[in-house]
Amino acid sequence: MKKKYDYLIVGAGLYGCVFAHEMKKQGKTSLVIDKREHLGGNVYTEKMEGINVHMYGPHIFHTNDKSIWDYVNSIVPFNRFTNSPLAFYQGKMFNLPFNMNTYTQLWGILTPEEAKVKIATQIVPNANPKNLEEYALSAVGRDIYEVLIKGYTEKQWGRKCKDLPVSIIKRLPVRFTYDNNYYNDAYQGVPIGGYTLLIERLLDGIEVKLNTDFFADKEQLQNLANHTIYTGKIDQFYDYKFGKLAYRSVTFEHLIVQKKSYQGNALVNYTDINVPYTRIIEHKHFEFGNQPNTVISKEFPKESAATDEPHYPIGDAINKTRFAQYKKLTQEEKTISFGGRLAEYKYYDMHQVIASALSKCKIKEI
Ligand code: UDP
Repeated sequence: MKKKYDYLIVGAGLYGCVFAHEMKKQGKTSLVIDKREHLGGNVYTEKMEGINVHMYGPHIFHTNDKSIWDYVNSIVPFNRFTNSPLAFYQGKMFNLPFNMNTYTQLWGILTPEEAKVKIATQIVPNANPKNLEEYALSAVGRDIYEVLIKGYTEKQWGRKCKDLPVSIIKRLPVRFTYDNNYYNDAYQGVPIGGYTLLIERLLDGIEVKLNTDFFADKEQLQNLANHTIYTGKIDQFYDYKFGKLAYRSVTFEHLIVQKKSYQGNALVNYTDINVPYTRIIEHKHFEFGNQPNTVISKEFPKESAATDEPHYPIGDAINKTRFAQYKKLTQEEKTISFGGRLAEYKYYDMHQVIASALSKCKIKEI
């Protein structure tokens, strides 16, 4: 029987919205549902004091793939924002990622040769590091590990660095130039007008139902479409039959401050374990705002409970094994496909989510 829509898309985050947008171009119809009251999943931005506030944490788009950069810019132009976060530790400010500015601030040294000599005296050599701590000590040495990595990482992940995978920290560059750009990618910026504008444009002409819980009405909703694209938590989809997958979550304290600028930078990380938040975000700087007031968000990490929005998949051995069991089930599905950070249980960046959605659109059978 002919169904009302070609696709039911569960989740109005980047993955689902890119998929719906591309399918509309191919003449297909979609219904996008989301349990939240707003679009965009965790990239959602909301206007406060004339500033686009990243309500679920800082989102800086970066990619090396020109086609992905051109794709997002064709939806909404991006600006030239370059992420250069600072780290605050016990009364001192340090530049990130680890670069010549950081080494000068830490040790008073001035040249790349001096920095390499200093780091060589600090590292704990390890040709085959098995966890984040072993890797960090072998790559940057004791001082950087203690001041800029250990406290921040253990706070963010709620686990010892010894119990975390190396992949998490490999996201950060280590440089011997005076370059505070957090990313090595060729393209970087944020959408002018905020991510919500990007999402709204992706969904232009597509039917959306917010405040709609897929699990409250699963069969009826799936019956509306020939195929379902599910972007939520994979363990929940299968009723946690192999156990829960662990996620790290974050909560935010958003504050309006009656000042032109609070900290002079979009991001300041607090790397001391004794400070309860991991970072303070000052949103106006993402778009070089000149508003009279400013909005800041303190980010507090926590283990993801049932009522929290999951942010980061925990990629340790137990969870990887568990995910593999769920993944096997997904491969047997005929009328449902899975994608995005939660369904693929991957610490995806935005450009990777978009690439994954675009490649899904090319599969003929769905
Ligand atoms: N990290 C750190 N110190 C910092 C910033 C990051 O040790 O000041 C580590 C930490 O383990 C974190 C990882 O680097 O989980 C990746 O950081 P990134 O900024 O990419 O994380 P995201 O922006 O996705 O939260």
